Parts: sequence; C-alpha cells; structure tokens
Amino acid sequence: MKKYGRMTVLLFVFALLFTGCAEKGSQQQQQELAAQHSDTAGQKEDGNTETPKEKNPDSHKGQQPGSQEEKNSDSNKEQESDGQQAGTSQQEPELPALNPDTVVYAEENVVTTTSVNVRKAPSTDSEVYQKVPRRSAFTRTADDGSWSAVKIGEEEYFIASEFLQLASEIQDNGCLVVIDAGHQAHGNSEQEPVGPGASETKAKVASGTSGCVTGLNEYELTLQVSLKLQEELEARGYQVMMVRTSHDVNISNSERAAVANNAGADAFVRIHANGSEDSGQNGILTICPTPENPYMGNLYSQCRSLSESVLDGAVNATGANKQYIWETDSMSGINWCTVPVTIVEMGFMTNPAEDQNMADDGYQQKLATGIADGLDAYFGN
Ligand SMILES: [Zn+2]
Repeated sequence: MKKYGRMTVLLFVFALLFTGCAEKGSQQQQQELAAQHSDTAGQKEDGNTETPKEKNPDSHKGQQPGSQEEKNSDSNKEQESDGQQAGTSQQEPELPALNPDTVVYAEENVVTTTSVNVRKAPSTDSEVYQKVPRRSAFTRTADDGSWSAVKIGEEEYFIASEFLQLASEIQDNGCLVVIDAGHQAHGNSEQEPVGPGASETKAKVASGTSGCVTGLNEYELTLQVSLKLQEELEARGYQVMMVRTSHDVNISNSERAAVANNAGADAFVRIHANGSEDSGQNGILTICPTPENPYMGNLYSQCRSLSESVLDGAVNATGANKQYIWETDSMSGINWCTVPVTIVEMGFMTNPAEDQNMADDGYQQKLATGIADGLDAYFGN
C-alpha cells in the first residue's frame, strides 16, 4: 500500500511540474506526462501500466534502449549536454544514488509491469545494463519511491519503481503447471509398464546424458532450468507444482505423471536435454504422443498444441535451431498422463557449443522465459 501512496504523490508532483495543473489534464497532456518520465525500453506510451497484457514486449525489439525517453525528456537536457548518453559504457566519476531521505530497505520479490530498462545507477542518464520484458522477476533490496535497487547475481542494478509491482500482488491466472525436472542423481533400472495396462516395460527412470564439454549432468541442468521456469511462471500468475526440487529422489516416470494427474495440472511440462552420436546435432525439440496413442490419444490435440507453442516460445527466446515435434508413444512419462503434456528437449549436451550455452545462467533464463511464453500462448494468457 505504501508503494501506491508514494506513486500517487510522485505522479502529483510530476503533474505540477509538467502540466502546471493539479487537475487531470487532457488525454494528450497525460500521454506527454507519461512519456516524459518513462524509463521503459524505448516506448513513449509506456507510462501507462493499466493494461500491461495488451503490450507486446517483442514490439520493443530493435529500438535503441532509452532513445525515446531522452527525446521526450526536457528535464534531462542539462545532464545530456555534458555528453552523457544512456547505453554508452563511459564511466561516470560519481554515480547517482538512491535518495537517502526516502529510501526504504526491504527485501521483496517484484516483477516488471512492462518492458523496461535495467540500469547501472538510479538515473535515466546512467548506462542501460539490459532490457527486460514484462513480468521479469527480481529481488528488490531498496526503493526510494522513484528508483528501486534489484539484485542480479551478486550485483545491484536499478529499475524505475513505477514499473515494478510486488510478486504477491500478481493475480492468479487460474492455470496450474506441473514441472518435471527430468531424471535424478541415480537412474533406476527397475521396470514399470510403459502405459496403463501395458505388458511392455521400461526402466523406471533413466540416468540421462551429460555435457560433453561442461560435464554437467542432465539431471542438474534440468533442475536449474526448471527452477527458473518455476520463478518465471509464478511471476506471470501461474500456480506451479514441482515434481522434484532436489537430486536425491527416486521417482519413476509413471509416478511423475501421477503427480501431474493427481494435481489436475492444466499442463505438464517435462524438462530434458538431448544427446546424439553426432556432435553436430543441435537445437530444441518437443515431444508429444501420436493421435493413435492407446493410453491417452484423446489428449493428442492438446499435447500437440502445447508442444508447438512451447517449441516456438523456446526457439524465439534463445535463437536456437528449431528441430521438430516428435510424435511418439514410447515415453512412459507421457503414456501415463491424463493431462496435457509435453517434453522439452532443450538442446544437445553432446554438441560443444550448445552444451556450453545450456550451462550458462543467462541462456537458461532465456529457455525459461521462452517456455513460459509458449505456455502463455497455449493458454491464451
Ligand atoms: Zn532426458
């Protein structure tokens, strides 16, 4: 509540400064006002945070970060005249700091309400560290009413406070996603039926592959990405349930499906990475059942649609090679499902470049963002 009060005061002050009128101005005035102190990623209308769902963060791509805000901001002219430009790597002798009179130190989870610049200092003149899309999640450590300090790794960066909202205030979007981080510390070669009533059996859970360069185990990679996906989805209003959050578990593929079934998941996303004898193989693929699947073929069209959306989302976010959607009835973790399911093979751990990419924190976040984009598309969120 404190935040809203502060923002109202802030808007009021800006209204006085820029329009000379404490009353609501004309629509045009309000738009100009929004443009003048916007720190969104290059969009003049982005001061409006009322209908963030209608904004497409992708539409901001290709624009210079901060270009619009500088064109529009009269208040920045003096600082600009000394040659400082947002986005340059020039080091300022003394970086701006949070206002010591108003700053409140509190650790809280926040998400961005629109596409926005993350800066190295609390000023629109400071260097843009990165642009992040709407609903990006951060831990905020301090807020002075205008600027918030957020942690990325061990470093502190800054985002205009008006474009952040508490994660706890995000409304539940009504969708439950169950995430299965593929594999576990030790495979289990005991057998289980490949589907309900099947005489054919398969190992309860395989040990998975590992990175040809990094040596990272698939079960480690899948959990790293799954935890990022959990955070990303929760920031977007999803309810999320994890099949596992540690490596030392013993959960068979049919039992993993049962977790999703029993929870009544709206989507079950199984995170895996691929391996091939051919080290040149690379890219993302998703897996769904065939229309003739004897156990759960009635879910084919939903699984196919989910697999398409997630594949497109992950490819768009990472720029990885788009493989294809593999339709197969050989996966027990799919056959036992009574809910829509997809397996994401995020890339080939047997490809040196892709192995190194997938081990990278930033690339993992892109994968998580892309898969979440795919789920948004699937659900129409
Ligand atoms: Zn796997």
